[in-house]
Amino acid sequence: MKLIILDQTGVINESSDTFIKTPDEWIAIPGSLEAIARLTHAGYRVVIATNQSGIGRGLLDMATYNAINDKMYKAVNHAGGRIDAIFFCPHTNADKCNCRKPATGLFDEIMQRYGVNLKNVMVVGDSLKDLQAAAAVGAIPVLVLTGNGETTRAGKEIPAHTQIFADLAAVADELVGEE
Ligand SMILES: [Zn+2]
Repeated sequence: MKLIILDQTGVINESSDTFIKTPDEWIAIPGSLEAIARLTHAGYRVVIATNQSGIGRGLLDMATYNAINDKMYKAVNHAGGRIDAIFFCPHTNADKCNCRKPATGLFDEIMQRYGVNLKNVMVVGDSLKDLQAAAAVGAIPVLVLTGNGETTRAGKEIPAHTQIFADLAAVADELVGEE
């Protein structure tokens, strides 16, 4: 099975210093929807693993997060792609949960759901937490330079063997060829 795991904000949609709290604030990064469509057509199952501490902080509730995801699903479907599932952590640091990246709980859930290990699976993110979690489960950490990606790259703490791409469209180019 071909699987790819994406962070949400900063990879698929534009990031915001004040969190994405409403569907209106969800804006696709140019090329990301088409990239998901190309991955879908090439047989990839596209799965999201995302920290959503805004829920735990009370900045948005589950109904609003669901509405944001509805907008994302529609936009992806309109572009011809499909998101297989969303795995999210609603907690804050203070909750000390095992799912907030860089913890690996979301990835453990994905492995259970799909019955696979994540060796050779790309985990695409814009934050150090994404890359660290990917490395911890033996996946391939992939840094994109959208969202916080430039800042993350400048931090120089990124795991060895991290692959770096300009954006999700460039990742799709690598995996399924340029259009
Ligand atoms: Zn959590």
